[in-house]
Amino acid sequence: MSHLLTKEQLWDEHKMDWAGCEECPLHKTRKNIVLGEGDLDANFLFVGEAPGEKEDQTGRPFVGRAGKRLRKAIKKAKFKRFFISNVVSCRPPDNRKPTQGEVSRCGLRFRQLVEIIEPKIVIVLGKSAGEAIFMRFPSIKRIRGNLMRTYIGRNQYTIVPTFHPSYVLRSHDEEVAELFENDLILAKKALKSAT
Ligand code: SF4
Repeated sequence: MSHLLTKEQLWDEHKMDWAGCEECPLHKTRKNIVLGEGDLDANFLFVGEAPGEKEDQTGRPFVGRAGKRLRKAIKKAKFKRFFISNVVSCRPPDNRKPTQGEVSRCGLRFRQLVEIIEPKIVIVLGKSAGEAIFMRFPSIKRIRGNLMRTYIGRNQYTIVPTFHPSYVLRSHDEEVAELFENDLILAKKALKSAT
């Protein structure tokens, strides 16, 4: 994407554009919009379903228990330039799954984010995030370990599907944790073939 503004300027504009958004019913119950955080020159974009309670309180993505699990795996795999966000920016009440309408209303914001960052690899955390991007998405157990390709906005991206870190925690299954960490290594390998 060629543009006259720097990524920092585009990001500042993006934050201003979406501050106070009332495009979907989730604005009624949220405390904070959680747009995402990380390196604007990120090679990797991690994308989950929606903010949870801690994220809603702090305005930061993946800072609760699941977020700590994700950040631990990111650290272990030694990711350098990454960004973290969600397909929906406001917390659904009681952490319910966002509706199709909410996902679709927040889709413009998500596509704008991707177009600002232009990551090389998008790591999809969980089926719900996958459904928001692909519409139809198989279970993570079936699809993980494979690379996918799809358009987000104007450009095509390599997608690495993996478990949501909250599932990794909930499962108490070392094999799931190992597969999750292997998927992050797959993402790093995919970057090498993408560059
Ligand atoms: S979830 Fe997205 S579309 Fe809905 S109010 Fe929040 S920022 Fe706006």
